[in-house]
Amino acid sequence: MTYVQALECRECGWRVEPAAVHVCERCLGPLEVAYDYAAMRGAVTPAGIAAGPPSIWRYADLLPVLAGTTGEHRVDLGAGWTPLVPAPRLGEALGLDDVWIKNDTVNPTGSFKDRVVSIALTAARRLGFDTAACASTGNLAQSVAAHAARAGMGAVVLVPADVERVKIVAAAVYGPTLVAVRGSYDQVNRLCAEVAGDQGWAFVNVNVRPYYAEGSKTLGYEIAEQLGWRLPDHVVAPMASGAMLVKIAKAFGELAALDLVDDTPWRISGAQATGCSPIAAAHKARSDAVRPVRAATVAKSLAIGDPADGVYALDAVRASGGAMEDVSDAEIVDAMGLLARTEGIFAETAGGVTIAVLRKLAEQGRVARSERVVAVVSGNGLKTVEALGDSTGATVEIDPRFADLRAALDLRPAEVPRPSRIKEPA
Ligand SMILES: *Cc1c(COP(=O)(O)O)cnc(C)c1O
Ligand SMILES: [Zn+2]
Repeated sequence: MTYVQALECRECGWRVEPAAVHVCERCLGPLEVAYDYAAMRGAVTPAGIAAGPPSIWRYADLLPVLAGTTGEHRVDLGAGWTPLVPAPRLGEALGLDDVWIKNDTVNPTGSFKDRVVSIALTAARRLGFDTAACASTGNLAQSVAAHAARAGMGAVVLVPADVERVKIVAAAVYGPTLVAVRGSYDQVNRLCAEVAGDQGWAFVNVNVRPYYAEGSKTLGYEIAEQLGWRLPDHVVAPMASGAMLVKIAKAFGELAALDLVDDTPWRISGAQATGCSPIAAAHKARSDAVRPVRAATVAKSLAIGDPADGVYALDAVRASGGAMEDVSDAEIVDAMGLLARTEGIFAETAGGVTIAVLRKLAEQGRVARSERVVAVVSGNGLKTVEALGDSTGATVEIDPRFADLRAALDLRPAEVPRPSRIKEPA
């Protein structure tokens, strides 16, 4: 059973049969998956979804699962259904009463990319590909390599040579062909567009991008379901290409249109690092044009200087009445520490971007104290320990002597509870 009807051009509405294509042959606009929503109405229910697996696959009916897809095609490492946790201590620090964290640090390869890759490789297998490929700032490479390994597919991943070393290791371990390119992500991406036209590979962010991008909708579905099939008042999401933010907004719209949630008002706001903030800059300038920039930020997973979905992210944020902000590297690192200390969640730099922007929007009054706001924390902190530099480490260093420990921590003897003896029955 599939509700997928076609691939449809976002700009001119031209429709084609689902295939491994991503641009409209008529106007070169991006293609997007079109569904039969009329048939979905009433057939896709909260009970049916709840009966599904605890992963993105519980939403299979709402995703681009192509006709003829079988269990054999499905590439699944268990992405999604990550915790949505109330964050009262973070909220208190920010002066907000109802903050929630969507904790996507706990995905199989430690970032939200597992959602999109699982969907993309499943479509790729159905379309007959045996090799997956991508251009990546690091996280996508790991996810593609891991999912390809799971599926027994070949993998070719291209990354800028200067991404965090741990991201190279954590992709290479799955055995892909890993190409480190001496250039920026945007140069890597251009290279991939050329190779994609030349090789029979499923490039997750090129020829199978329409399927890939839809995987981000699952963040929106999960947030709503985990709030008891209710929409939050506000979501703050990080932006690289802008696709994740656009698809969360799309998911909320679909759920309301399908009567799976009440159509309550909600806003979505976008977060970028100042060192790579082309979308936020366009928003601040009230411009419709996203001007490419050269990226220089610790938030390397968000360092896309020429974002493919930038204009659509502007549209989604404006239509919802949301905001965009950008934050410095120092603010990012500071927010990583704040989130870890208040909520026990260690996020990568992209998570620091989201939390720092949430803090800024709260200070500016653009997130209200009483609003129910969900911050999307999209990657694990162990991926970007370098970013923390010397800002974290041992409190003190001592020799292994009790006297030294006592002196270093200024310890004084304290009452120590002792267990009382249980009396044996006579
Ligand atoms: C890729 C990525 C994003 C943003 O993704 P886009 O859909 O390109 O905007 C956010 N956070 C992390 C950790 C990522 O790896
Ligand atoms: Zn078109």
